[in-house]
Amino acid sequence: MPPLVVGNWKMNGTQSECRQLARQIAKDLRKKSARVEVVLAPPFTALPSVAKVIKGGQIKLAAQNCHWQESGAFTGEISPSMVAEIGCEFVILGHSERRHVFHEDDEMVAKKIAPALAQHLRVILCVGETLEEREQKLTTKVITRQLRVALKGLVKDVIEKLEIAYEPVWAIGTGHNATGEQVHDVHTRIRRFLKDSFDDSTSRRVRILYGGSVKPENAGMLGQIDEVDGLLVGGASLQANSFLSIVRAFSRK
Ligand code: PEP
Repeated sequence: MPPLVVGNWKMNGTQSECRQLARQIAKDLRKKSARVEVVLAPPFTALPSVAKVIKGGQIKLAAQNCHWQESGAFTGEISPSMVAEIGCEFVILGHSERRHVFHEDDEMVAKKIAPALAQHLRVILCVGETLEEREQKLTTKVITRQLRVALKGLVKDVIEKLEIAYEPVWAIGTGHNATGEQVHDVHTRIRRFLKDSFDDSTSRRVRILYGGSVKPENAGMLGQIDEVDGLLVGGASLQANSFLSIVRAFSRK
């Protein structure tokens, strides 16, 4: 599988701003086609506009979240089939801002995975520890718990429809990325967890992404780490130039 680079635009951009940013990225990738799978996750309101811009090209679309139910009295929520209908091929679930700002717990995140997969969405499952948990040497315990709850009951065949993004909470939007050693250590543990829970070949079919203050300056270093199969990029994906140089750093992987 090619490396995967995802731009998470969070709650940024009107429809026309998102359209323009997507156009700049798509135009450049058309010129110099990268050996990387590129995914953009604009806000919900801009999904249809960005879908039109990227139609027929190599860029794919992701939603930043979805609910576990297909319909009903869930004001402010959006269902997996609604997201799929717009043209999303991916959905980000369990992002740290969902977990820590909107109090989604492991069980809520877990409930969303099977319904999203049932709509043929690839799931980008985010896991990661807080600074306090790292300082208390709880990183492995927290990530193992998040994975165990999220993947419970999922069979081998659907696991390969999953990408796992390791995003240390303390690195998101702070400008302080995890060191190469910290990233390698956690990614290796995630791979081992998958191998122990399923088998070696299944574990190899899951891409493990890193996210947390990725910028053009550190993308090359992250691209050289063995178990890093891609990136989830927040702030630096809001400028076409910085996002494209991160994508290029990964096309050399
Ligand atoms: C993210 O939104 O998933 C993220 C990693 O943000 P940033 O790159 O801004 O730290």
